[in-house]
Amino acid sequence: MNSPVRAFKAVGGTPRFIARAQGAYLWDADGNRLLDYIGSWGPMILGHNHPAVMAAIQEALSEGLSYGAPTEREVRLAERVREAYPSADLVRFVSSGTEATMSALRLARGYTGRDLIVKFRGNYHGHADSLLVQAGSGLLSGGGGTARSAPSSAGVPQALAELTLVVDYNEPQALKELFERYGEQIAAVIFEPVVGNAGVLVPTPGFLEALHQLTQQYGALLIADEVMTGFRLAKGGAVELLGLKPDLICWGKIIGGGLPVGAYGGRAEIMQQVAPLGPVYQAGTLSGNPLSMAAGLATLKTLFQDPPYARLEAYGKALEEGLLALFTAAGVPVAINRVGSMLTVFFREGPVRTYTDAVTSDTERFKVFFHGLLQQGVYWPPSQFEAAFFSVAHGEDELAKTLEAAEQALKLSATR
Ligand SMILES: *Cc1c(COP(=O)(O)O)cnc(C)c1O
Repeated sequence: MNSPVRAFKAVGGTPRFIARAQGAYLWDADGNRLLDYIGSWGPMILGHNHPAVMAAIQEALSEGLSYGAPTEREVRLAERVREAYPSADLVRFVSSGTEATMSALRLARGYTGRDLIVKFRGNYHGHADSLLVQAGSGLLSGGGGTARSAPSSAGVPQALAELTLVVDYNEPQALKELFERYGEQIAAVIFEPVVGNAGVLVPTPGFLEALHQLTQQYGALLIADEVMTGFRLAKGGAVELLGLKPDLICWGKIIGGGLPVGAYGGRAEIMQQVAPLGPVYQAGTLSGNPLSMAAGLATLKTLFQDPPYARLEAYGKALEEGLLALFTAAGVPVAINRVGSMLTVFFREGPVRTYTDAVTSDTERFKVFFHGLLQQGVYWPPSQFEAAFFSVAHGEDELAKTLEAAEQALKLSATR
């Protein structure tokens, strides 16, 4: 097992080993067909094996695997990214979302000459040391106590964890109090502009306003982590959808079309601090890998030529309404949070606005629901605190199949 959430630890049972994929479906090693609501945790917005992406990879494949030298494809992909995110003057490619956020934080520290960073509870930005950190007891919701954070993983030094301040998402007052105490020392605030990694949480306008205003006022950089939401919620991601003005943006997942990739970008004066132009070091043997660039380029080209966002929204709306009707009829309290093609059914009454709200969901009931779906060939994310994703390959048949399976699964979870 090479990444923990795949292990089904949150739901129990044995994870399915996947043998192949096509369109909206996976086939496991026992030959069962599964309707895929994970999409490799985000990248597969065009469905599996999209012909344009596969052809682009094959073409690149015939030209060699990696050169460790600049290529035209990197420039063309960066230009595509900039077309969707006009505020990103310069873009740097790396090999994962983790590398993108880790590098953006180093850049923010280098640019501002400050050490502290701020993250939000329940936001996930990959597994760099500075980001595997949980809140100190005194700080949540403006408690006014000590800000000492703690590592959320073994192996992360306490001294490093204390440089990351953690507050609740969607709590502008807590953020304000944090800035009043530490504002002059804060290099950056990193956030998921729509949260996918606590289940889906939707930012409130007041929260977004506070983020922007406080970072501006105190000279801290605002880093939008669009690794999940970039090119999924709109051509210009959540930045476009919500009209955000971040200083730096991180990408991953969709911009590699299913191959390993990450990227970060922003205003020229900031990005020019990165080596070789500036003093902030960051490098990668496989950065800008030709196959990843080819897959990303074909994916973005396809998305730009035939934007799927209205269709994904229509599918999402029908799925959300269909599920809600089933749960209401069964008398099971749920809150469904959805933005475009990211959806979470929280097993508790709504609204679910913060991480604290999300974690009081009935995870036992979720488990029964998850396994009910899986038995009927619907592969939902194996945790209450993840987003389900769907793709352009999900159509009428898939919608009907999902709602049928959900109705059956609900009978199981209601009679638990
Ligand atoms: C997946 C994800 C990451 C980490 O990306 P990896 O490629 O898994 O390292 C970072 N931020 C967000 C918002 C993500 O969803």
